Amino acid sequence: MMKLVAATHNKGKLAELEEMLGDICEVIPVSDFTDVEPEENGGSFEENARIKAKVAFLASGLPSFGDDSGLCVDALGGAPGIYSSRYAENAEKRNAKLIAALTDVPEEKRTAKFVCHIVYLDGEREFAVSGECKGRILFEPTGSGGFGYDPVFFSDDLGKPFGLASSEEKDEVSHRGRAVGMLKKKLKEIFGKEHI
Ligand code: IMP
Repeated sequence: MMKLVAATHNKGKLAELEEMLGDICEVIPVSDFTDVEPEENGGSFEENARIKAKVAFLASGLPSFGDDSGLCVDALGGAPGIYSSRYAENAEKRNAKLIAALTDVPEEKRTAKFVCHIVYLDGEREFAVSGECKGRILFEPTGSGGFGYDPVFFSDDLGKPFGLASSEEKDEVSHRGRAVGMLKKKLKEIFGKEHI
């Protein structure tokens, strides 16, 4: 089975990636090769994904992918966007800050989307794919499923908060699920079903 290095140090994301990719490849965390966490100083999700993928490839010498994801809230002009992980010091504080920033914003204007960009590279080839999922920011955290901003995100596709969704339900509709679906399709095209 093909080995694929995932350039993430986030345990929540790693668990989701393993669940989604495990049937076609062995997902190896970049932390098996290096502790270096690159500065995410790109100007877009895709640039940040490429920065992470490069670090993983240079450290491992194996096919690698980086992903960069975040939450874009319409009423905040797309914030926190690429700064999602740095919006406040931990997930609980980030969710509290987001809800406070939307205090006077009515339900119909609380639209938001999760976005995920993935860059794959192996020294010979490089490509980028992406996925998104739409929803709304809740008035208070709901449920304990998932990670990060999941408890404050109501998914339009599921008709319920990500915090109340099972991991299988979330994978079906999530930004990461959709981007990984495209990654798998591309890998199958490049390497052929029998090699992965
Ligand atoms: P990254 O590790 O730089 O991609 O940071 C992504 C940020 O967006 C982190 O703060 C995550 O908590 C948040 N995020 C990304 N995907 C999700 C998700 O599926 N659910 C909840 N939060 C997410």
